[in-house]
Amino acid sequence: MQENRICRRCLLEELGASDLIQTLEELKEAMPEEDRADSAEYGRRLAICRECDSLNDGTCAKCGCYVEFRALKKRMYCPHEERKW
Ligand code: SF4
Repeated sequence: MQENRICRRCLLEELGASDLIQTLEELKEAMPEEDRADSAEYGRRLAICRECDSLNDGTCAKCGCYVEFRALKKRMYCPHEERKW
């Protein structure tokens, strides 16, 4: 008799980068413009994250956030002890 088992690993694999990018776009669209970091500031933040040792596969080791999400909100800040942005 064959057993139907749920593969938890496969469920994780379903969440590919393209899903995250789409979610990011939806989040951007839903966020009031006055709450969003402008594109120059957003780019500046991500450029700093790219050079940071705490960046790990798109997430920040200091807080666990996806940095592209964290950097999106104007009032958000870098959680590093030295507060890089
Ligand atoms: S510590 Fe700051 S600069 Fe480094 S990855 Fe996290 S948010 Fe980005």
